[in-house]
Amino acid sequence: MVSGISSRRDMITRTKTGDSIFQYDISLRKYTSFKTGGIAEIFVEPKSVSELREVLRFCMREQKKIFVLGNGTNILIQDDGVKGVVISMGGACFKEIKRYGMYVSSGAGVSLVELMRRVATWGLGGLSSLAGIPGSVGGAVMMNAGGKYGSISETIHSVTTVSFHGEIKKFSRKEIDFPYRGCSLREEIVLEVELLLRESHKERTFKEMNTIYREKREKQPFGTLNAGCIFKNPQGFKAAELIDKAGLKGVKVGGAIVSEKHANFIINSEGATSNDILDLIKMIQNSVLEKYNVMLETELHFW
Ligand SMILES: Cc1cc2nc3c(=O)[nH]c(=O)nc-3n(C[C@H](O)[C@H](O)[C@H](O)COP(=O)(O)OP(=O)(O)OC[C@H]3O[C@@H](n4cnc5c(N)ncnc54)[C@H](O)[C@@H]3O)c2cc1C
Repeated sequence: MVSGISSRRDMITRTKTGDSIFQYDISLRKYTSFKTGGIAEIFVEPKSVSELREVLRFCMREQKKIFVLGNGTNILIQDDGVKGVVISMGGACFKEIKRYGMYVSSGAGVSLVELMRRVATWGLGGLSSLAGIPGSVGGAVMMNAGGKYGSISETIHSVTTVSFHGEIKKFSRKEIDFPYRGCSLREEIVLEVELLLRESHKERTFKEMNTIYREKREKQPFGTLNAGCIFKNPQGFKAAELIDKAGLKGVKVGGAIVSEKHANFIINSEGATSNDILDLIKMIQNSVLEKYNVMLETELHFW
């Protein structure tokens, strides 16, 4: 697909069209659920694994920082933007779902919603706990996405990645640690995940998913611009309860506001900037630390 490096600013071009695969100074706002943040120096959506590896070689050679983008539902991008290469995993080549008996392999760019629906239709269960999470499969692996009913790591059999140095690797489940909302993979881009699921009646699985989805809809500020829970639950506490008890529901910084419905959500209500959101996060942390001597750790990732 990729013809090679030219001396122009457009460093990598596609053979068929001669077009650069790089886009410059792209606003990242539309790529995140918060709808805030500045521009990417370089933005690229690879159309194949070989194209992705060529981009990675470019990044290594030019010493460009790498930012991997899934659905952007758990990141806050600074208003000044990011210097480096943002690699979107939204290309069609990362959106395949295949089944082999009880095993399902999914590309990193597949949305969790699509994956859950597909496996449920095949009479497979094990993913209902992910209902209501708007991320991609790659993002879900890196975040060990889930909730009180379980998390994605419980079904993972293996993860195929490409390292920032371009090496393709396959990790078995036991080679990866999945702490609460985290993953031990570093400088790796998730390409594909293999899940081991269980047999389940289609109707029962859809019912489970709908029940969990409805439960979340009741408790969370659906339909607003947010990035899910901002803070991890500290050992023995619920972050939302601490924030609520500290009297912070409805507190605002610029256009960013602590949700009245769920205190662990910050909403971009009136054209908030990322700085507004960041300042509100710091204010919440300071207030909860002062009142309860608990330092809230963020679940949100920062670029
Ligand atoms: C309304 C709402 C509800 C939510 N509810 C939940 C919930 O119940 N439980 C929960 O766990 N989360 C929840 N979230 C947060 C979020 O959806 C999850 O963390 C999700 O897994 C993030 O996936 P993403 O594709 O959007 O990742 P992004 O936000 O794009 O990225 C998150 C991190 O993963 C990295 N990443 C993304 N894709 C890849 C890849 N292919 N390879 C390597 N690194 C990658 C990014 O670099 C970044 O560091 C919610 C968010 C919203 C907006």
